[in-house]
Amino acid sequence: MAKGYNDPAMEEKFQDRYFHATTESNPEFIKEVERLGRTPAHMCFQCGTCTGSCPSAPRSSYRIRKFMRRAVLGLEREALTDPDLWLCTTCYSCSDRCPRDIAPTDVIMAMRNLAFKEDIVPRNFLKTIQLIYNTGHGVPNNDVNRAARVKLGLEAEPETTHKYPEFIPGIQKILDHYHMKENADRILSEGEQ
Ligand code: SF4
Ligand code: SF4
Repeated sequence: MAKGYNDPAMEEKFQDRYFHATTESNPEFIKEVERLGRTPAHMCFQCGTCTGSCPSAPRSSYRIRKFMRRAVLGLEREALTDPDLWLCTTCYSCSDRCPRDIAPTDVIMAMRNLAFKEDIVPRNFLKTIQLIYNTGHGVPNNDVNRAARVKLGLEAEPETTHKYPEFIPGIQKILDHYHMKENADRILSEGEQ
């Protein structure tokens, strides 16, 4: 089977190593990604070790190497509007193995921050923000889990905000500082209109 990105338009751009399409390429994008991610993304030489290490890659269309190339080529729109941007689990396997000592995980995190600034965030992520704000958990405990925990000899609630809800206001304060809940509520409500 031929190796590649399975995307003819991307293949064409990637084969031209001097690609600088003024209409599509934003040279500031790589600088912003490196500033936020604090990692030398421009050093990527497309070896593919990151994608080969990635647990998301065999299960989805997500390819971290593709995002690394987009960063270098300044393909900001393509990167920020691709839903695959949100399929990284931030496991850091790629960062452990990159032979150029780049942290691709932090490149993805930087891109997500840039996407969030433009309200480009999947709805399930916004709902997770709401859950963390209200419960301290992205996946709150439920009756099925509580029953399973008790059956295993554990307390029904874990040693988190479920057991100590008095710490929830602290979490809310952090999220309020970055306007995360406020923005999540706004974007979600706009989507429902
Ligand atoms: S492992 Fe590092 S150098 Fe290789 S493609 Fe990924 S980011 Fe680029
Ligand atoms: S940090 Fe993200 S991109 Fe890197 S290996 Fe893990 S899931 Fe893949």
